[in-house]
Amino acid sequence: MIKAEGVRKSFGQLEVLSGIDLQVDSGQVCCLLGPSGSGKSTFLRCVNHLEAVTAGRLWVDGDLVGYRQRGDRLHELRESEVAQRRRDIGMVFQRFNLFPHLTALGNVMEAPVHVLREPKAAARQRALDLLDRVGLADKADAYPAMLSGGQQQRVAIARALAMRPKLMLFDEPTSALDPELVGEVLDVMRGLAADGMTMLVVTHEMGFAREVADTVVFMDGGVVVEAGTPEQVLGDPRHDRTRAFLAKVL
Ligand code: ATP
Ligand code: MG
Repeated sequence: MIKAEGVRKSFGQLEVLSGIDLQVDSGQVCCLLGPSGSGKSTFLRCVNHLEAVTAGRLWVDGDLVGYRQRGDRLHELRESEVAQRRRDIGMVFQRFNLFPHLTALGNVMEAPVHVLREPKAAARQRALDLLDRVGLADKADAYPAMLSGGQQQRVAIARALAMRPKLMLFDEPTSALDPELVGEVLDVMRGLAADGMTMLVVTHEMGFAREVADTVVFMDGGVVVEAGTPEQVLGDPRHDRTRAFLAKVL
């Protein structure tokens, strides 16, 4: 579903990604760890077509990010084509970014109705089902300001799922939450993983990574330092840098 080969990204003189190799297969959960500034969010933004890569190749769902292939020729994508591809990718951020003037139900229905042009009644029913799936059936009519951080984040997940994504990206989805609210969001993510969703998750929740991830990737300084199963990377890290990082977060 995701394949990165030598992905580089620079902002001016600053090289943030210095040759990322990474693969996430369909139905797998990959947890991405690394110190602040190591390039985790930048990589997610590349996968989500929000940043163009400077060099290397990045495929998402079989398509080279940023390009359309015709024969052996590559053509840069038009903006409308980028938007089309982004529809297949759900992204959940640290901050929930819900529309404050819409209810939970309104937030979840918004894109299916306005982007996918689904009939309102059908979108509404599906939004209610999704809110039920994230444990918020009784909060459909609540506005974001009336919801806890954990509830808002679960609405954000339901909203992303409403677009029927093939891939879900999570960028530290629980790190802005009070500790007692982290579990309910991780439970929803665990459920998604169990249902076979392909997920790339930036998180420092080691319990979640250990239990749910198929692969764990540790990044530092814009490169993948090590990658493997959770047992291997978290339990028996090969590199000093991984060990030093884990000692701090565990
Ligand atoms: P954190 O754990 O703090 O979220 P991160 O691993 O997600 O860190 P990134 O946000 O990807 O790190 O940032 C990596 C580096 O790229 C940082 O030095 C950051 O300042 C820089 N950077 C990110 N986006 C831009 C941008 N649009 N322009 C210039 N520099 C940027
Ligand atoms: Mg980040």
